[in-house]
Order: sequence, then C-alpha cells, then structure tokens
Amino acid sequence: QAKAYGGGEFRFFSKSMNEDSAARARMESDLRRAVAEEAFTLYYQPKLNLDTNRFCSMEALIRWPRGDEMVSPAEFIPLAEETNLIVPLGAWVLRRACLDAVALSERTGRVPGIAINLSARQFRQPGLIDAVRSALEESAIPPEKVELEITESMVMDDVETAIETMQALRDLGVRLAIDDFGTGYSSLSYLKRFPVNTLKLDRAFIRDLPHGTEDAAITEAVIVLAKALKLEVVAEGVETPDQLAFLGQRNCAYVQGFLLARPGPLEVMPDIFLSEFV
Ligand code: C2E
Ligand code: MG
Ligand code: MG
Ligand code: MG
Repeated sequence: QAKAYGGGEFRFFSKSMNEDSAARARMESDLRRAVAEEAFTLYYQPKLNLDTNRFCSMEALIRWPRGDEMVSPAEFIPLAEETNLIVPLGAWVLRRACLDAVALSERTGRVPGIAINLSARQFRQPGLIDAVRSALEESAIPPEKVELEITESMVMDDVETAIETMQALRDLGVRLAIDDFGTGYSSLSYLKRFPVNTLKLDRAFIRDLPHGTEDAAITEAVIVLAKALKLEVVAEGVETPDQLAFLGQRNCAYVQGFLLARPGPLEVMPDIFLSEFV
C-alpha cells in the first residue's frame, strides 16, 4: 500500500515537474522572441517634487503584453537574467526610455528626469557603459536627466568593481540612485564611497506611516541622513494622504506612489506633467 502510494505520488510529482519545465521552456522561448521583436511596453510612474508640487521626473517600468495580459517585471526579469536576455532587453529599455523622455518634452516644453531600473546581471555586464552611452547619443537627452536605479544587493558581492562601474556611469554624466534603500544589506559606511545622487526609501517603511513608530523613526532618520550627505531622497509607495502629509512635514523632497500617480503609458504623461498635484 505504502509502495503503491509512493509510486503514485512520484508519478504525480514528476508530471507536475514536467508541466513546470514545459511552462518555463515556453515562457523562455516567448521571451526570446519578444526580445527579438522588441515587443515590450514601458509604463511610466511620475515622481512629485514636494517643494514645487509639480511632477519633475518619471520612472520607466517595463511591461510585457502577452495575449491579453500585461506581464509584470517580477515574473520575467528573473528569467531574463538567467538566460542573459536581460542584456538586449536592458539596452532596449535604456534606449526607449531616453527617446520617450525627449518625445515628452515636445509636448511639455521640458525634458523630464527619467529613472531607469538596472538589474544585477545588467549592472555587472561589461557592455553596460556602451549601452548607456549609445542611448544617450541616440536620444540626445541631456545626461543629467537620466538616473539609473541600482539596489544595494547588486553592488555588495564585489564592492570595488561596483564602485568602478558606478564611477564610469557618473563619468557619462548620468545620475545614480539606490532603489529600495534600507532593505538590502549594505553598510551605511558605503554611502560615503558610492558615487550616488539619490536614495529611494523602500515602500516597506512608508506602508505603515504615520503610525508605525519604528518606520516613522527610520524614515525621519533617512531624510536627515540624506540631507547631511547631500543626497536626494525619494519616498516610494506613497498611497495615502496621511503618508504624504507625514513626509511633507519632515521635508522629504520627492515622493512617488499610487496616491500621486499610478504607472501608465507615455500618452497620459503630458497631462500629468503639465498639471500641478492637488
Ligand atoms: P521598483 O523599481 O522598486 O519599482 C516600484 C514598483 O512598485 C513598481 O512595480 C510600481 O508599479 C510599484 N508601485 C509604485 N507605487 C506604488 C504604491 O504606491 N503602492 C504599491 N503597492 N506599489 C507601488 P512594478 O512596475 O511591478 O516593478 C517591480 C520591479 O521590477 C521594480 O521595482 C524594478 O525592480 C523591476 N523593474 C521594473 N521595470 C524594470 C526594467 O525596465 N528593468 C529592470 N531591470 N527591472 C525593472
Ligand atoms: Mg525603481
Ligand atoms: Mg523601489
Ligand atoms: Mg522594488
């Protein structure tokens, strides 16, 4: 009985493993084709400057239209990393985002800041500098309008090489941000060595504001720390007016989140950039 049961379980297990690997293989070949055909879309999420109450910049967030769904990056960026498809995909994002920012300026009269997420493998890959340089050249965007977002975990396993890469990027004139700040495992002492411009405080700290007392303390401290280090600070994931009020009272200069604007296609950006947030 036990043996029969075990055998049945094994068959069941191996069938579902086969299904998983078949689904993965299908996803991989679809992804490969999508990269070749550049069949992706960039959504943009604006960032609000709380001093001026205007949107000043936007973050590119990739989407993969597949059938009638929009696949989110969490579902395919890891696969793109494993298969190295992130290299051509990342180059496409850089180029498209810079071109879109310049296109937006034709509607609004000024080039917005454009924030672009890098992934771990893309950051470590030697062609990155050339990919950034050619996106800058092709779009003719002023380099200082471009901010590349990296995470702490991306830089920590080889700090010295990472600093060289960061410096090479800064030498192109672009800005650097640490995304999801506070959730990685980097030490504060690196903040003075990393040539970054901006800290993006992870939305995990914002979620329970203004009531989460630890989160409130951390948020306040990071705002003060950033100011002292002459870094810009952006609070991510702002969803409620209370969170916004808390951040405004503590002089957090920049905010991003569903309360201000959800990520959306380029077409909806002109109206957002031409209006004031009320
Ligand atoms: P991220 O860079 O930290 O981006 C913020 C994520 O939080 C986005 O999810 C955004 O839609 C979401 N978000 C923004 N405001 C709020 C809010 O108020 N509440 C909540 N609950 N969520 C909010 P998304 O677009 O699914 O992207 C997820 C992650 O995928 C990004 O995290 C980024 O790490 C990565 N990613 C996105 N686009 C790219 C890309 O072009 N290249 C690479 N390498 N990674 C990307
Ligand atoms: Mg980001
Ligand atoms: Mg983030
Ligand atoms: Mg994130």
